[in-house]
Amino acid sequence: MNMYSHIKCSEENCNFFALNENEKCLKHIENRDEKIKSISMKLQKEDMIRNCNNSTIILDSINLKDKMIIVANFSNSTFTNIDFTGSSLLLSLFQYSTFKSCKFNETTIKYTNFAGSTFSNCEFIDSNIVNSNFNGIFAQNSSFNDSDLYYSTFTSSRLENITYIECNLKKTDFYKSKRNNVSFKYSNYEEAFFNRDR
Ligand SMILES: [Zn+2]
Repeated sequence: MNMYSHIKCSEENCNFFALNENEKCLKHIENRDEKIKSISMKLQKEDMIRNCNNSTIILDSINLKDKMIIVANFSNSTFTNIDFTGSSLLLSLFQYSTFKSCKFNETTIKYTNFAGSTFSNCEFIDSNIVNSNFNGIFAQNSSFNDSDLYYSTFTSSRLENITYIECNLKKTDFYKSKRNNVSFKYSNYEEAFFNRDR
């Protein structure tokens, strides 16, 4: 089966989805720290990460290289020093999360949602990032160099010290983005969207 579980956390007024095989979300589960530890171990061990609700997880300094991450929910989470090099992230949810010093190099990212997240010192180099959602992100000191960003969207994002060098920006959407020291050197930025009159 290849879909998200839509069972809500049993805590009153909580809108997060319950962890797999649990009544509560990761935020409200008893023994939260232990649970995070065991999920973290599991993520490192398994090649395929799918159909899981891991919202609000906190991951620090682990290796998630060469993983297949598909239909996985990691919204409202914190990632520090995580290496996703060589992984595929498909149909997955990472919105409203915080990424510090994370590597997404040589990745394939499709139909994945990073909306509203913050990024600092992150790398998305030499990657295939298509149809993915970076709307409303706040990104600093990060690089998307040598990547294909076809049909990905950065609408209403805030971008500071970001490089998009030698990228395919065909139909990449930067509408209403705020850009400070952003380089599009050697990229086809004329094929990207910066406004709505074409
Ligand atoms: Zn909850």
